Amino acid sequence: LSPADVERIRGDFPILQTEVNGHPLAYLDSGATSQKPLAVLDAERDFYLRRNSAVHRGAHMLAAEATEEFENARATVAGFVGVTADEIVWTSGATEGLNLLAYALSNATFSPEHAALRLSPGDEIVVTEQEHHANLIPWQQLALRTGATLRFIPVDDDGVLRVDLIDEIITERARLVTFSHVSNVLGTINPVSEIIARARQVGAIVVLDACQSVPHLPVDLRALDVDFAVFSGHKMLGPTGVGVLYGRGPMLDALPPFLTGGSMITTVTMEGAEFLPAPQRFEAGTQRVSQAIALAAAARYLDAIGMDRIAAHGAHVGRRLLDGLDAIDGVRVIGTAGHQYDERVGLASIDVAGIHAHDLGQFLDDRGIAVRVGHHCTQPLHRRLGLTATTRASGSLYTTDDDIDRFLQGVSDARTYFGVTS
Ligand code: PMP
Repeated sequence: LSPADVERIRGDFPILQTEVNGHPLAYLDSGATSQKPLAVLDAERDFYLRRNSAVHRGAHMLAAEATEEFENARATVAGFVGVTADEIVWTSGATEGLNLLAYALSNATFSPEHAALRLSPGDEIVVTEQEHHANLIPWQQLALRTGATLRFIPVDDDGVLRVDLIDEIITERARLVTFSHVSNVLGTINPVSEIIARARQVGAIVVLDACQSVPHLPVDLRALDVDFAVFSGHKMLGPTGVGVLYGRGPMLDALPPFLTGGSMITTVTMEGAEFLPAPQRFEAGTQRVSQAIALAAAARYLDAIGMDRIAAHGAHVGRRLLDGLDAIDGVRVIGTAGHQYDERVGLASIDVAGIHAHDLGQFLDDRGIAVRVGHHCTQPLHRRLGLTATTRASGSLYTTDDDIDRFLQGVSDARTYFGVTS
């Protein structure tokens, strides 16, 4: 994206004109949640203005129109990640998608033909030491419920996955392997095909946390050959309250439900119930219609700009961040060793010697620069790197060179302000 393209894009995001503490906002917290373009806000408002209705059940025109738009949104979002509509389950976000999966895999109502999926004592679940808590705790809990054992692929001193150990860690006992496509702390793109190749060798189910990749890279879930994947709408220019669980056709069909209730059944008696096929089997209750429609608008917006161009812009943001941070004394950027610029998105997490991340975050906020501080829901990773907190700058398609330069200047000035000498 050229600077002129980015300026044009910024025109679609009114919030970016906000003043913070007397300074123009430099929003470098897109890794936590992205801002939303007018096309997304308009789609949600338009739904409530013209077609608001519950989907799938009504006999009236608004209900039929709402249903059509809701199902079109499913097809749009499915197409955006290279899969088909019946493989997409709407969730409230990645966290719910991962919990849905973890509960379904221990569901006592497994029918005999699905029994092969159920985890038992002796089975192993493999995660990584890099994971967001959302892709760790549901598996810890699944292990507790089923008696399976949790194992993990460790990281090296810089946070990079020890891919050299995967043959040792992913063994014949592994039933499920789950990992993030892009780390929300390091911004590094993980070697998906290497990990999947090993998981396939041992017949394990593969789950991909695509929260930080779908907003920033072209992602084709079919080509990646994962069994399940999750991502959140709010990180990809869409609204909060909606996300996606993808399940490869036969895998999703084989899963028993998690939440039960209305809209996911065919027949109910006082004794039992028959369930609809996927994806409706996983969508109990009144659905998040406006959010799904607005998420489809976000996917169309990203598509119109082009994910290749967005990825190239992310690489540019990442490079400018890393080069600038490299030039400041006392700054440790985590997750850079062994990774080329093009294996990263536009995100960097730093530890600045002598300055607590929260102080740095406050100092930057005084200048209108919004970053995330803390452990970013990855306590084990931070602990492994000998840190309790880092300061994360994360960009998006609307990030300008000026945003980055102001962040870099802020970090440099903070060292002077806090009297850090090196
Ligand atoms: N995984 C990763 C890699 C993330 O970055 C996040 C959000 N920070 C999540 C999972 C959880 O997403 P959500 O809170 O939207 O459910």
